[in-house]
Amino acid sequence: METMIGKTRLVLLRGDITRQSVDAIVNAANSTLLGGGGVDGAIHRAGGPKILEECKQIVARQRGCVTGDAVITGGGNLSAKFVIHAVGPFWSGGDRGEDGLLASAYRSSLRLAAAHRATSIAFPSISTGAYRFPVERAAGVALRAVRAFLRAESHTLLEVRFVLFGEADLAAYETALAALSPA
Ligand code: ADP
Repeated sequence: METMIGKTRLVLLRGDITRQSVDAIVNAANSTLLGGGGVDGAIHRAGGPKILEECKQIVARQRGCVTGDAVITGGGNLSAKFVIHAVGPFWSGGDRGEDGLLASAYRSSLRLAAAHRATSIAFPSISTGAYRFPVERAAGVALRAVRAFLRAESHTLLEVRFVLFGEADLAAYETALAALSPA
């Protein structure tokens, strides 16, 4: 499923984010930046030790990365030039600012991509695995955050891809995209 937002193609597909040929892939990292399971483990395994080395240098400079923010490293052995490590919120019931923090994780990632003149970026479904954010709600937050960024900020992006790992996740994002108000 895909749609245009201005000059940018927004694509939803099922796949493995480590295998995407894009300028930047986004990692659902945690605030230590020192690796974890899920998509984080898959990216570090596929990208090799260089990515973790760069994360450690960032940690030495600024400690970790707060929830809602993101940092950027090279892509190591991946075909992506950059990995953007974004920290989404852990789901605590929905009234602890989770929506705003998740939107901020997407916005921070897009700002870093734009600052590095990326023309394409691939996101996983941040926070909906180990961090247990309900995927139907996360999908709407993610798509609205991306659309708002693409419309309001200057950027170089021609394609934004959501790479969903499971069929149910893809279906949730498709439903959320179809439900996005035209405004
Ligand atoms: P979080 O801690 O932010 O919830 P997880 O890595 O646990 O992060 O899960 C985020 C999403 O990433 C989940 O939907 C999970 O199924 C998905 N995922 C795991 N591995 C991959 C992969 N290789 N490519 C794309 N998505 C993946």
